[in-house]
Amino acid sequence: MSIPQSTASFQPTTDRLPLPAAVDRHRIVWSYAITVGVYHLLALLALLPWSFSWTGVALAGLGLYVFGSLGINLCYHRLLTHRGLVCPKWLEHGFAVLAVCSMQDTPARWVAVHRRHHEHADRQDDPHSPLVNFLWGHVGWMLLENDDLSRLGIYDRYAKDILRDPFYRKMERTPLYPMILLGSWATFFLAGCAASLLLGGTIAEAARFGASLLIWGVFVRTVVVWHITWSVNSAAHIWGYRTYETGERSRNNWFVALISNGEGWHNNHHADSRSARHGHRWWEIDMVFVTIRLLEAVGLARNVYVPDRRQVAGLLQKKRKA
Ligand SMILES: [Zn+2]
Ligand SMILES: [Zn+2]
Repeated sequence: MSIPQSTASFQPTTDRLPLPAAVDRHRIVWSYAITVGVYHLLALLALLPWSFSWTGVALAGLGLYVFGSLGINLCYHRLLTHRGLVCPKWLEHGFAVLAVCSMQDTPARWVAVHRRHHEHADRQDDPHSPLVNFLWGHVGWMLLENDDLSRLGIYDRYAKDILRDPFYRKMERTPLYPMILLGSWATFFLAGCAASLLLGGTIAEAARFGASLLIWGVFVRTVVVWHITWSVNSAAHIWGYRTYETGERSRNNWFVALISNGEGWHNNHHADSRSARHGHRWWEIDMVFVTIRLLEAVGLARNVYVPDRRQVAGLLQKKRKA
C-alpha cells in the first residue's frame, strides 16, 4: 500500500487559506461539538476540592504517556498511519485500545484524516491547516461538516490497509469503540471505589475517591491529550524552526515536542514521514522513539524506519538554497 505523502512543490503564496471547499460552515457536527464541550466541563470538575486526590493527579500524569504517547503517537501515528515500525498484532491491538481511550476517533478514521493531511499539507484540501486560522487548525476543523471527510470514499482511499484487519473493521461496524470507552470510565471509577473500601473507607468515601480517579484519570487526562495532539496540527505548523524545505509550513516546535514526547519535531516528520524517529538532531529529544528502541531491544518491535539520509539531505540542501 502506498501511503500518500506531500510531494508538491506548492508553497502557499499568502499566510491565509480558505476553508476546504467541501466544508459547510452552517452545518455543525453536533456529536463532536457536544463531546468536546461536555468533556471540557467534566474536566473542570477537577477544580472542586472535593474531587482532588494525589492518586488522581498521578494517574492523569501517567495517562499522558500511556494513552497519549503509546496510544496516539506510537500506535495511531507512527505505526498505523506511517508504518514506521511493526509490532506483534497483540501488542499493536493493545496500543490501539489505549488510543481509543484517548477518544480521538477509530483507528481507520484517524489514519485516513492524517494521511489526507500529509497529502495536502497547508493547501486548501488539508483538513486542518492553521493557515485558515489557529482555532480552525486546532479544533474547529472537527466541528464543521466536511464532506471530504464524511464520504465513505475516504476509507477506501486512505485506510484500506487498516480495514483489512478484522479488529479495526469491528471498530467501524460494531459498538466496540464506545464499549472500550465506557469500560475505561468504569475501570477508573470502580478501581477507586474498591481501593477505598479495602482500606476501610465508607461508601461515601469510596464514591468520592472513585469519582476523583474518573475526573483526573479520564476527563482531565483526555482533554490534555486532545490539546497536545491538536497543538501538533496547529502550533507546529505556525511557530518553530524549519530544518528542511518540505513544501508546506511544518515547524520543529520544542514546546510541542516536550509536551508530546517528540511529535513536535514536525518539520522533521514532514521531511520523511515514514521514519519512526522524529528527533533528527541529538538534542531533539523524542521519547516516543526511545520507547520504540526499547521495544525493539526486547523483541517487541521490528522494521523500525529511521530518516532516509538521501531524502533528508536533499531537503536540507533545498532549505539552505532557499
Ligand atoms: Zn503536519
Ligand atoms: Zn504524520
